Amino acid sequence: NNGTTALIAAIKAFDMRPGEIITTPFSFSATTHAVSLAGFEPVFVDIEPRTLNIDPSKIESAITENTRAIMPVHVYGNPCQIKEIVAIAERHSLRVIVDAAHAFGVDCDCGQLHTVPDASVLSFHATKVFHTVEGGAVITRDPAIKKRLDLLCNFGIEDEDTVRFAGLNGKLSELHAAMG
Ligand SMILES: *Cc1c(COP(=O)(O)O)cnc(C)c1O
Repeated sequence: NNGTTALIAAIKAFDMRPGEIITTPFSFSATTHAVSLAGFEPVFVDIEPRTLNIDPSKIESAITENTRAIMPVHVYGNPCQIKEIVAIAERHSLRVIVDAAHAFGVDCDCGQLHTVPDASVLSFHATKVFHTVEGGAVITRDPAIKKRLDLLCNFGIEDEDTVRFAGLNGKLSELHAAMG
């Protein structure tokens, strides 16, 4: 139903132990709020002056035994250094959940920006590249994560008798979908 819910659901979908998520201080406030509302401690790593995106050369020194994931942002649709970030994450067994709210349809040398790492999150707010007035999406290649996201966005309801876990109301309305 919006990019903020999508970010919270994406973080929750990986069922990570509580801990820290490394992110950028230079983004819309929803990036950090989502980390914190999902129950994680945001840890800021400074940005590069040229791209205004998180500086990969400063990420490793911020990783602790409590780090669970990295959440970079493609600020203003400028691709962050995703290959370097993924390589760091692989070395330390961390997830990469990208806030791609500004990057719908943006290409880089790794392909369509919103199709990379564990999950990428889009906002379809009226101020964004593509919009449904209010809306959002999570993109992942992992069918198990997709299943968890579906549950998370519908109150955790699996069937009439089973609620798997505490979920959100993250549904996109038909009316908003029709606008998109
Ligand atoms: C807009 C935005 C969000 C939140 O999206 P909403 O659809 O407004 O909830 C998250 N992150 C960034 C970087 C944004 O610009």
